[in-house]
Amino acid sequence: MQEDRVERDFSARSEEEQQAFLQETWCDHCQEANLGMKNPQEYLYKGIVFIEGECNRCANVVLTELTDDDF
Ligand SMILES: [Zn+2]
Repeated sequence: MQEDRVERDFSARSEEEQQAFLQETWCDHCQEANLGMKNPQEYLYKGIVFIEGECNRCANVVLTELTDDDF
């Protein structure tokens, strides 16, 4: 599953953008938005950019999928 992933540099984004992505999350486990994430990793998978991190509340994986508008 992982071979199609292309790592991207999350830290290359502006500080403002990084903060926004770290705060604007959706956690499937908590079923709650904007709990925030830590340890963000950004990658490209099948033409879609994902930012993956750990939920600040439950530490489960949270995924943010970037649409074209967010580039
Ligand atoms: Zn959570």
